[in-house]
Amino acid sequence: MDQIAVAMEATQRRQKLSSNGGASETTEEPAGQWGRAWEVDWFSLSAVILLLCTAPFLVFFFVMVCDQYQCSVSQPLVELYSGEATLRSIWDKAPSFTWTTAQIYTVWVSFQVVLYMCVPDITHKFLPGYAGGVQDGARTPAGLINKYEINGLQSWLITHALWYANAQYFHWFSPTIIFDNWIPLLWCTNLLGYAVSTFAFVKAYLFPTNAEDCKFTGNVFYNYMMGIEFNPRIGKWFDFKLFFNGRPGIVAWTLINLSYAAKQQELYGYVTNSMILVNVLQAIYVLDFFWNEAWYLKTIDICHDHFGWYLGWGDCVWLPFLYTLQGLYLVYNPVQLSTAHAAAVLLLGLVGYYIFRSTNHQKDLFRRTEGKCSIWGKKPTFIECAYRSGDGGLHHSKLMTSGFWGVARHLNYTGDLMGSLAYCAACGFGHIHPYFYIVYMTILLVHRCVRDEHRCSSKYGKDWKRYTDAVPYRLLPGIF
Ligand code: NDP
Repeated sequence: MDQIAVAMEATQRRQKLSSNGGASETTEEPAGQWGRAWEVDWFSLSAVILLLCTAPFLVFFFVMVCDQYQCSVSQPLVELYSGEATLRSIWDKAPSFTWTTAQIYTVWVSFQVVLYMCVPDITHKFLPGYAGGVQDGARTPAGLINKYEINGLQSWLITHALWYANAQYFHWFSPTIIFDNWIPLLWCTNLLGYAVSTFAFVKAYLFPTNAEDCKFTGNVFYNYMMGIEFNPRIGKWFDFKLFFNGRPGIVAWTLINLSYAAKQQELYGYVTNSMILVNVLQAIYVLDFFWNEAWYLKTIDICHDHFGWYLGWGDCVWLPFLYTLQGLYLVYNPVQLSTAHAAAVLLLGLVGYYIFRSTNHQKDLFRRTEGKCSIWGKKPTFIECAYRSGDGGLHHSKLMTSGFWGVARHLNYTGDLMGSLAYCAACGFGHIHPYFYIVYMTILLVHRCVRDEHRCSSKYGKDWKRYTDAVPYRLLPGIF
């Protein structure tokens, strides 16, 4: 309970800070606006409750339609409308929870915990340019800088080497194991997703890792969904955000795709070029994530989001099931693309990836060198800004106005969206099912852009306005 008192005190201190105003024109905004909201308006609350109630069913729907309706999204709705099917009959046909799947999933998650906690990174010692091992995170709102053991790439490599060794030599289990247990795995991932979110929620009240970085609102649903603790940890090194976002979800992403490819091979005797494209493009994205895991410590997920259901359940369920819809679709609908179509998809995916990676790289380089670098062959231009952290400390920062960051304020999202569209387009135009991903990513990234800009505006005040005057567009120059 002392911890709650400390957190409340921190809250009051922030509020006092904000009402006192700042020491300079750039610090007049409330430090308490950093991170997620302190107060919940009715719109946010309705959205939170709607998401809590519908998201698990949405995931079930997209997986179930493949299992029962060959990935037709409209067919179950038509059957429900005409009375041919009922919610009960659909539910009854879905494979249920099995203890065998629970064992498989327990082994999987435990293995990832062991790799994360017990195998310190050695890859950074022999891979030139790779930043692994112990790394600093960004400053938290309370002014702390956490340390992280970055060993995601190593975990990914070990896991995939074992997968390969099993598929080629040992044959302990079938490479289609993930596909064959897909819906029972959905129940297991939900159990973990809800357990970890609930644990993080209770932990925030009883034994938070850093009480000064907790945010409480009067609304229990909002607290549960958006999280209270900023960087919950068990012990010194088990960081919830880094573990759940990176592993088991993102390590699994490429294995899930490989399992889908293996299923195509088993069912049809060949693997389609669309399946290969989806596997390759998504593997580039996943490997990029792990290669740049240290950079990920500076992204919004780690720097600004609190750990609640949104991240906990999202990482365990939403990500592995909905980010892999294209591969799932292609198992049921083995699309073979014309050479021109396949080349266009590959080009879109690679150009999208180039923009995404280069934009992120430019910001990382710019921030690491404090602007003393070369962007597109020139010294970068920038706007100097200042802000206050929750402990009252005054800090300085820079917002770059050249390179990709001078073209639009979030061209990394634009590149990400181009890549996402390429995955969907690889599935042809037979069904809308695989296109859910681009719709979702557009909503996610546009919302994220607006949310981030609101936060930056609160953090940097008038300096942010100077930046948006200098770079007026968000995602598409001249349009948005
Ligand atoms: P960014 O990496 O774009 O980070 C935004 C932050 O960068 C801002 O809050 C601000 O932080 C700083 N910043 C903003 N403008 C500038 C500038 N001009 N110069 C220097 N710094 C600036 O956002 P995300 O963390 O959301 O995304 C990282 C990547 O991850 C993106 O490429 C995105 O596409 C991807 N992503 C993918 C998701 C997926 O599900 N596949 C989900 C979310 C993200 P500060 O307070 O430090 O100034």
